[in-house]
Amino acid sequence: MRDPDFTLSAGPTSVSARVAAALGKPVVYHYDPAFLETFRRTERKLAEVFRTQGDVLIMQGEAIAALEGAARSLVGPGTVALNLVSGPFGKGMGAWLADFGAEVVELAVPYDEAIDPAEVERALAARPEIDLVAVVQSETPSATVNPVAELGPLARAHDAVTLVDSVSALGGMPVEPDAWQLDLVVAGPQKCLSGPPGLGLVAVSEEAWRRIEANPLAPRASFLSLLDWRERWLGEGRFPFTPSVSDVHGLEAALDQALEEGLEAAFARHDLAAAACRAGVRALGLEVWAAREEIAANCTTAVTLPEGIDERDVLRVARERYGVMLSGSYGAGRLVRIGHMGDSARGLLPVVGVMALGRALADLGVSVRVGDGVEAALEVVGAAVAA
Ligand SMILES: *Cc1c(COP(=O)(O)O)cnc(C)c1O
Repeated sequence: MRDPDFTLSAGPTSVSARVAAALGKPVVYHYDPAFLETFRRTERKLAEVFRTQGDVLIMQGEAIAALEGAARSLVGPGTVALNLVSGPFGKGMGAWLADFGAEVVELAVPYDEAIDPAEVERALAARPEIDLVAVVQSETPSATVNPVAELGPLARAHDAVTLVDSVSALGGMPVEPDAWQLDLVVAGPQKCLSGPPGLGLVAVSEEAWRRIEANPLAPRASFLSLLDWRERWLGEGRFPFTPSVSDVHGLEAALDQALEEGLEAAFARHDLAAAACRAGVRALGLEVWAAREEIAANCTTAVTLPEGIDERDVLRVARERYGVMLSGSYGAGRLVRIGHMGDSARGLLPVVGVMALGRALADLGVSVRVGDGVEAALEVVGAAVAA
């Protein structure tokens, strides 16, 4: 099949010419002084994007690998974890925590809802032994967000460490490990930063290091080990293993882009793309999946599938006939998703997403008002440009 004209998926998303060019730079030896400088510079830029004074790690393997390493690092003998579930990634984290030996207390909400901090407070009060709280900031499959800023201080007051999946949040909305008192925050380059997939970006608090160092079950001498990165790279300037030189080049370009644009400007751009997309979807005559406007993610919009329609058909028609790659539900429910993250949260691209979804559904026999959807989405973009 030919390449897509538009990648409006829930990540990986399209990268800019600048990131693509960086990925194509010469591959150098990882102990070449130039690469050592690049790696350290990229870490500093990552810390700036994480708005942290603490340590950051650039781990090899996709974000899931860093998440697994982070979870394994924190679960030790007797760990009681409060796992907050508002979608498939939260659910999966609970399965991991249990598998690694934690007693898991689950606090779940329907996948079109968000975690309520008051419920978290009650759950913590009911189980004083809870020493780990895990949460997903932006549940990409259900396209909803959790109030992580409020959860960090609650966990800290309870002496529990936090493990936060911010993979699809970093670069698109505030992620502030220091200000929000979070301990391990994991992100990826391939969502709102529009970098290449294949790396895990981790912010680590001093408290997290204390917990990990004291944990006899934390991975050591392992691909998933956070401690190896601390001891070897941060401590001795030796890599635990060969980093993917090209991915690091791509990541640096993606971070440069974010910092030059300005984080606040990037957040506003994602907010606008999401608002345009939701307005367009509603004007098509469809329902936005998120139960409330305030909890709708700004990196992707989930749209409730009309009765009798299979998500695979929607994706196939949009892609094969119109060259637009959308995303399916990833097990979150009867929905399809329009991605507007990183470089796809620019200009009229969210309108293209609305068009492609509307036209694909129309082709499948659903009664939708494609013109109304386009106009409503354009209205939101136009109003912001005029302002
Ligand atoms: C994409 C995503 C992941 C997985 O990241 P990979 O790099 O694909 O492994 C994990 N959590 C969330 C919330 C995501 O959006």
